[in-house]
Amino acid sequence: MTEFQLTPLRCGYVINHAVGSFLYRTDCGDARIDAPCIAWLLQAPGQTVMVDTGPGSCTQAPQHYRPGDPDDLLLLELARHGVDPSSIDTVILTHLHNDHVGGAGHFLNAIFHVQERELREAVWPVPFQRPIYEVNQRGRTPAWVQILDRVQALDGDGVIMPGVSTVTLPGHTSGSQGVLVDTAAGPHLLPGDLIPLRENWPGGGGPPIPNGNHTDLYAYERSFLRVAALVTSLGVTVLPSHDPRIFDQPSYPVIPTS
Ligand SMILES: [Zn+2]
Repeated sequence: MTEFQLTPLRCGYVINHAVGSFLYRTDCGDARIDAPCIAWLLQAPGQTVMVDTGPGSCTQAPQHYRPGDPDDLLLLELARHGVDPSSIDTVILTHLHNDHVGGAGHFLNAIFHVQERELREAVWPVPFQRPIYEVNQRGRTPAWVQILDRVQALDGDGVIMPGVSTVTLPGHTSGSQGVLVDTAAGPHLLPGDLIPLRENWPGGGGPPIPNGNHTDLYAYERSFLRVAALVTSLGVTVLPSHDPRIFDQPSYPVIPTS
């Protein structure tokens, strides 16, 4: 079995974001956070895969950078881990919001795995979603348009390679998908923005809470049931997409030392 190590890369921030915006119908008072935009580096012997690509450079997406940040956090993070983006041939995109696909242009030799349904939604989303897909914004070409020549569209669940598969998890967007990754400590799930914070998926600590940014709550509920089934049947570990506490560990799985 191919076992991967998952490393979170801090590629920008959703700055000064109301915590309550992540937690539908939950009173979080005035709490706000700079929520990291996380891309994931998956590494196994002979295999390197990216899941999501962050928002892109500060020039491209200044709204996701803090004063004093370097111009391109994703490139710096990859360099820190000794990874040349042009050496990566497989990128999986959980969905096409700009804070997940903005850095895609760095992966010049990659195939991008996206749900076909997400591509359809991105072309002409409902008006309130157009800025986050960068659609219908005068003078702007969405990052996802710039990689269309290398997109591999998925219609449902897919096996990307041994140890890495995708599961459809609609609700945040209609074509959202999660990524299941085999590790030495069992499968880990990157659920995309279905589960942005730990509080959205408290496990035994209460019912799951949808992201306040969603397109279909019925689909959301079915996706939560799907994640619950994965936890029950496979014992998956869920890694949220925008939670600052992800960086409490440099990589996953966390292997207990005895
Ligand atoms: Zn999103």
